[in-house]
Amino acid sequence: MITRFAPSPTGPLHLGHAYSAMLAHDMATAAGGMFLLRIEDTDITRARPEWEAQIYDDLRWLGLSWPEPVLRQSDHLGRYAAVLADLGRRGLTYPCSCSRADIRAALSAPQEGALPEGPDGLIYPGTCRGRPMSSMQESDAIRLDMASAIRTLKKLPGFEETGEHPGWVQTDAGDLINGVGDVVLGRKDIRTVAYHLANVTDDAGQQITHVVRGMDLFEATRIHVVLQALLGLPSPVYHHHRLIRDTAGKRLAKRDDARALSRYRAEGATPDDIRRMVGL
Ligand code: GLU
Repeated sequence: MITRFAPSPTGPLHLGHAYSAMLAHDMATAAGGMFLLRIEDTDITRARPEWEAQIYDDLRWLGLSWPEPVLRQSDHLGRYAAVLADLGRRGLTYPCSCSRADIRAALSAPQEGALPEGPDGLIYPGTCRGRPMSSMQESDAIRLDMASAIRTLKKLPGFEETGEHPGWVQTDAGDLINGVGDVVLGRKDIRTVAYHLANVTDDAGQQITHVVRGMDLFEATRIHVVLQALLGLPSPVYHHHRLIRDTAGKRLAKRDDARALSRYRAEGATPDDIRRMVGL
């Protein structure tokens, strides 16, 4: 078994991250396997070296260890760009110049009430679909053409889930088109790929057998298995765990400094206290 913890260094780790990392570490250790740490810092507009440094520090304090060197995605942007270009050559992507306001306006016209949302926010209405990649402008985003992707695949993918809702989770065409849509895979202006493509590229490259992560990413896994199928990559087993909530029942966000691990450390908590707090 190879598991990994793959944080984005865009804020302090909080109790939810500690739970995720310790669970992935415990599962690998119990199976005589390996636990890896990967830094998902492709969003160069939000990732900060000081958050990365604090990730190493917090995880070591928790008693976790991992093999070095740690894979930092920002060191491999060329690798993800090549994967993105491959999908482009196969006619599976298109450039998109729509702003969030454009998308909202296009969706509001035919729609009454709540706008359709998927794992990545609003379901893209398809305004730019069909534009050739050769019309790409510097500031465009690159979207996956989900309908073309589905046509390319002989069989729609699914995944084995061992976490909160164990069993086989199958994707279906209607849900991929209406409930996920044409998600953003990359952006040229910040010379980077969005999280999804780098995530599946590295899970396969690092031979991750079990992806342990929070339920907040359960829906995004449908995107990931489609990408794996398109790219001919194996799908790992997924273990989406419960989310650690604050006392009001709200899920923790990076901006909630109140639950930052460093805060508990500063107040004298021990790693065992953290384990107890998250129920491990
Ligand atoms: N980098 C992602 C995040 O911080 C997690 C990716 C994953 O575990 O698959 O939310």
